[in-house]
Amino acid sequence: MKYISVKAGDVIIGNGRPIVVQTMCNTPTCDIEASFNQCVRLSKAGAQIIRLTTQGIKEVDALKEIKSRLTKAGFNTPLVADVHFSSEVALAAAEVADKVRINPGNFAKDPAVARAQFGRLIDICKRRKIPIRIGVNHGSLGEKIIEKYGDTPLGMAEAALEWINMAMECDFNQIVISLKSSNTRVMTNAYRLLYESFTKSGVYFPLHLGVTEAGNGESGRIKSAVGIATLLGEGIGDTIRVSLTEDPANELPVASFIADYFRNRTTSFEYISEGSNSEESRIISASYNSKSWSEFILKASCDFGPLLLDNKIDDINLNVSIDNKPASPSEISRFRDELLQASRRKFTKPEYIACPGCGRTLFNLEEVFEEVKRRTSHLKGYNIAVMGCVVNGPGEMADADYGYVGEGRNKVSIYRGKTAIFRAVPQEDAIDKLLELIEEDRNSNLFKPRN
Ligand code: SF4
Repeated sequence: MKYISVKAGDVIIGNGRPIVVQTMCNTPTCDIEASFNQCVRLSKAGAQIIRLTTQGIKEVDALKEIKSRLTKAGFNTPLVADVHFSSEVALAAAEVADKVRINPGNFAKDPAVARAQFGRLIDICKRRKIPIRIGVNHGSLGEKIIEKYGDTPLGMAEAALEWINMAMECDFNQIVISLKSSNTRVMTNAYRLLYESFTKSGVYFPLHLGVTEAGNGESGRIKSAVGIATLLGEGIGDTIRVSLTEDPANELPVASFIADYFRNRTTSFEYISEGSNSEESRIISASYNSKSWSEFILKASCDFGPLLLDNKIDDINLNVSIDNKPASPSEISRFRDELLQASRRKFTKPEYIACPGCGRTLFNLEEVFEEVKRRTSHLKGYNIAVMGCVVNGPGEMADADYGYVGEGRNKVSIYRGKTAIFRAVPQEDAIDKLLELIEEDRNSNLFKPRN
């Protein structure tokens, strides 16, 4: 067996090294001051790697300046250029960044161009000794892959393998792979399939784990913990990002907790009784006494999420104390509902897909997302996406039924599936338009919520 490790700046990922925790700036990269300040804050908060959106050459120049200022200020956290839709920008970014993330689904439309440009990118990365992340996303698979495999976990794994093989043909192994989805089942299955093929070939590349567009608050944390914990518990994964529609600094304690939990975990949890083992209902009871509610939800999600996700149990029965004081039954019940939904076992509210926002977001995504959630909370059985930009948003929102997608300053497009139904709606009217569309579709039986 051969375990590959890669080096971004001074940080080593893979080959049994401790899990690396990373995040991404949500500032416009060209706002050098704001991005520099956010990188400093994120480094101090524990980010071991920071990614910045790099959509054009202006952003490449800004990234160079941000890096130089960080170095002068004594911060050497590696910076990753996140590039979509332009292989030329990826080539330019590789000259300045510590690592480049590309998305095979949008690197270059023509396969021959993609291959040639990837070869050029590898040449630069070899010369500069920097790695590449092959970042496959469920919502933005290439046409060829969709035709052959559909937008399935297998399609995601195959998309990655195609690019791994291209890298191997160029004698380049400094690659990290991610296969993200906002659906925890799709995401875990995709990584498992890829890992299986690593086992067959005997070569393991480092894996970057994350549940993309996980949303915010407790549901975002629980969904991320379920997906990431399921894989870390199987020994799959080398670096993680918890992707929240919040200040990116909030992602770091969650990611660090999950990474540490798997590093230090000796027993997963204390059973106080095992429920019926019958086919119909397999319920596990457990008791927790945690220091804080936030610690409890992460621990319990790491413990039970994998079992629920893999249909090994059906439900949980929890006895919870926080700092030796019993938690309220309603809080415990709310957590249980969240965990069952994150594990895709029981849906008690709409399923939200919300990107974390980045330099492309031109409105207050956190506030808008909260407002969308407030006004659509009755729409159980619907998948509703809130995405920061029209460039990546529609592609990335995967299996959303409806989407609220930023289209510029104070303008929003409303989507049904992947089709924009209302374009450039003023932001103040956009949620009304979204609800109007859902209502019309419901009345005309165009869309029926899932049970
Ligand atoms: S969808 Fe969201 S995170 Fe992705 S590029 Fe657009 S604004 Fe950034």
